[in-house]
Amino acid sequence: MQFQSVIGQQHLKEKLLQTVQDGRISHAQLFWGAEGCGNLPLALAYAQYLNCTHRTAADSCGVCPSCNKIQKLIHPDLHFAVPVNSTKSVTADKLITDHFLPQWRDAVMGNPYLTEAQWYEALDIENKQGRISVHEATRIIEKLNFKSFESEYKILLLWLPERMGHEAANRLLKLVEEPPDKTVLLFVSESPNHIIKTILSRTMPVHIPPIDAPSLEAALQQREGLPEADAGKIARLAGGSYSHALTLMRNSREENEFFEWFTFMMRNAYAAKFLELFDWAEELAKAGREKQKNFLLYAQHLIRESFMLNRDTPDVVYLMGEEEQFAQKFSPFVNERNVENIFHELNIAQEHIAQNGNAKMVFTDMLLQIGKLLRK
Ligand SMILES: [Zn+2]
Repeated sequence: MQFQSVIGQQHLKEKLLQTVQDGRISHAQLFWGAEGCGNLPLALAYAQYLNCTHRTAADSCGVCPSCNKIQKLIHPDLHFAVPVNSTKSVTADKLITDHFLPQWRDAVMGNPYLTEAQWYEALDIENKQGRISVHEATRIIEKLNFKSFESEYKILLLWLPERMGHEAANRLLKLVEEPPDKTVLLFVSESPNHIIKTILSRTMPVHIPPIDAPSLEAALQQREGLPEADAGKIARLAGGSYSHALTLMRNSREENEFFEWFTFMMRNAYAAKFLELFDWAEELAKAGREKQKNFLLYAQHLIRESFMLNRDTPDVVYLMGEEEQFAQKFSPFVNERNVENIFHELNIAQEHIAQNGNAKMVFTDMLLQIGKLLRK
């Protein structure tokens, strides 16, 4: 990965480039920042820059054999250690990243702004959390004791050191304190507070701030093809995180459908158009339970936002274009007298859906109750 492919972070990129050009390369660095701000992409770009044979003042070349291999995550001098857990094919006593390299390459090359949750999903370890085991620590030491194969630096990229326990950390301690010559350890963290202190104190911190909104906006337009207005809105809501922006974008696609459902539901509930409502409840009953549940969550979100508009606190309202227009018109109908009860009805429906209740009956009942509450 080249620095130019990392979203925003201009100031930090320049700083990193300068340190390498000045030969100030700390042997143990901690790239840390919130999820989705580019911690991992920056560490990859830095590793590539270190070993590029034709680097310029601005970036790695992207085409030399070293760059080529690092871009494919197959460089023999770039080692990875990432949190993993047992799967059907890898048992708990063999928990090292080497067994999961194909998945790791796919995941990172598919999306360098990979989140921890997305990684566990890719690993198919379901609800288990990954960890960096003592076996991994032993393996790291073995690998880094070899001479480098073909590049100037041997680099270890250890993603999420906060997933390393005391035993593994203790084993790595000496390495972190005094790595072999021309060895660079890059720790990439999202919560440095949870890194074992002895490791943390031996690394040089490189803080990665949130991505500036204009860079996020441009990335959403270029990489995801979002129209300018939507990209701008999402960029402002994403808090400087590209991963968060992508989630918002995906949700907003599903939400277009939910938005239509919601407006239909509220208009007809208010107007007491029972036949339309019953037909619609039948339609809704055909959607999967997960979708029904998400819709009910979405409905709560819009009710809440409409209530906030009603209370004239627009600065806490997070709505997109059409939703905002609808909520403006709808907000007079949501007030202190009914908002809690409407929420209650949506909650009951959610519970019943979760318990496999008859969806058509659950929704019909909910719509009748909400209609009454709106007309109060
Ligand atoms: Zn190169």
